[in-house]
Amino acid sequence: MECNVENIYKELGISDEVYQFSKEILKELAPRFKEIDETAEYNQLKVLKAMQDNKVSEACLLGTTGYGYNDIGRDTLEAVYASVFHTEDALVRPQITCGTHALALALMSNLRPGDELLSPVGKPYDTLEEVIGIRPSKGSLREYGVSYQQVDLLPDGSFDYENIKKAINEKTKLVTIQRSKGYQTRPTLSVARIGELISFIKNIKSDVICMVDNCYGEFVERMEPSDVGADMIVGSLIKNPGGGLAPIGGYIAGTKACVENAAFRLTSPGLGKEVGASLGILKDFYQGLFLSPTVTAGALKGAIFAANVYEKLGYRVVPNSTESRHDIIQAVEFGTPEGVIAFCKGVQAAAPVDSFVTPEPWDMPGYDAQVIMAAGAFVSGSSIELSADGPIKPPYAVYFQGGLTFEHASFGIMKTLQEVVNAGLVTL
Ligand SMILES: *Cc1c(COP(=O)(O)O)cnc(C)c1O
Repeated sequence: MECNVENIYKELGISDEVYQFSKEILKELAPRFKEIDETAEYNQLKVLKAMQDNKVSEACLLGTTGYGYNDIGRDTLEAVYASVFHTEDALVRPQITCGTHALALALMSNLRPGDELLSPVGKPYDTLEEVIGIRPSKGSLREYGVSYQQVDLLPDGSFDYENIKKAINEKTKLVTIQRSKGYQTRPTLSVARIGELISFIKNIKSDVICMVDNCYGEFVERMEPSDVGADMIVGSLIKNPGGGLAPIGGYIAGTKACVENAAFRLTSPGLGKEVGASLGILKDFYQGLFLSPTVTAGALKGAIFAANVYEKLGYRVVPNSTESRHDIIQAVEFGTPEGVIAFCKGVQAAAPVDSFVTPEPWDMPGYDAQVIMAAGAFVSGSSIELSADGPIKPPYAVYFQGGLTFEHASFGIMKTLQEVVNAGLVTL
C-alpha cells in the first residue's frame, strides 16, 4: 500500500485536475501563511500568560451545580477572558445560548427606555434586526422604547463621519459596531479602523458606550477592539474563542459597569455574576480558549486559500485574494443559486460528521430569505468548524468559514471546487 497524499485525495473524491489546480495555488501562499503563524504564536502566548497570571488550577476545571455560588472555575475563567482582552471584567457563560443572545443581552442590559442605539457601520447582522426592532418582533428594544439610528458606510466602504456626527444626539447611549461583514459583502473592519471610529465618536460624546460585535474576529489580529477603546466586546463561544471545544456559550468582556448590567440581566438584579452553575463545561471552555489562536489561524488560511481559488476562476470574492484579513469569513459571489448550492454540497461532503447528507435551502428562524447551510460539525451549528452558509437571494454569495485544522479547511475547499466543476459551472 502506498501512503501518498495524492492517492488519499483521490479516494476522497478529489480529481487530479482539482488537486493540481489547488496545489499550485497553495504553493504561492506560503509567505502569507507564515505571517498568520506569527500572529498565532503571539496570541497563543497572550492566552497562556492570562491563564498563568490568573492561576488557573486543576480545581478550576471542575464545575458546580445548583446555584453555582463560589464557582472558582467560572470566576477564574472570566478573569482570564478579562486579561486576554484587557478589560476590567467579563461574563463568560454556558447560560448565554449563542452570539445573538450575547449581543441582545449586552444591548438590553445597557439601554433604558428613551435611549437611542446607533449603528454607524450600516445594517447589523440579520438576527439583530429583530433584537433591535428593525423588523418588528416581540420583546425587541423598540417595544421597550429604545430608538435606533443607522448610518451606512459610504460606497467605498469608509465611514460616513459627517452623518455619524449628525446622528449622535442627547439620547444616543450606545453605539454598536460590527467587526465582521456578516451576510454582507462590505469589507470587515480592522481593529485599527474600529479604533479610529471609536475615537471620533468619543470626541463628540465621551460617555457613549461603544460596543463591538466581535463575532469571528477574535485572535485574527494581535489586538482586539477592547485594546482600542471599545467599552464592550461580545461574541459566541461556538465561533473563534471556543476553539471548537466549547459546546455552547457566549461572552461579554468590557468595563465593570457594562458587564455588571449584563450579569444582572442574564441572571437577576441583585444576583448578577454570583449565580450560574458551570456544570461540567469549564474544561472545554479553558481548553478551547487555549487552542483558539491556532484554530483561528487554520481557519484563516483556509479562507485565504478559498479566496485565491475562486478569484482565479473569475468570481468576486470578499475579501479578495491579497487583501489583509480581519475575520475568518470568506464570501464568494456566485451570482446564481446553483453555485451557492454546489459549494455548500462540497463543504458538507468534506465533513467528519454527516458527510453523507445533502444540504437544502430552508426557512431559518431570524432570517428574511431561505438559507442553505452546510456543516457536519462535532458541535451542532459551530461555525469555527468547517461550515458554509448563504441566503438564497442576490448576489447569491456563499459565506465560508472555519475548519479546526488547516488540513481540513483546505480539503473542504477542494471538495467545493470538485462540486462546482461536477455541476458544470467551471472548467479548470
Ligand atoms: C454569528 C454572528 C452573530 C450571531 O451569532 P449566533 O451565534 O449565530 O446567534 C452576530 N453577529 C455576527 C457578526 C456574527 O457573525
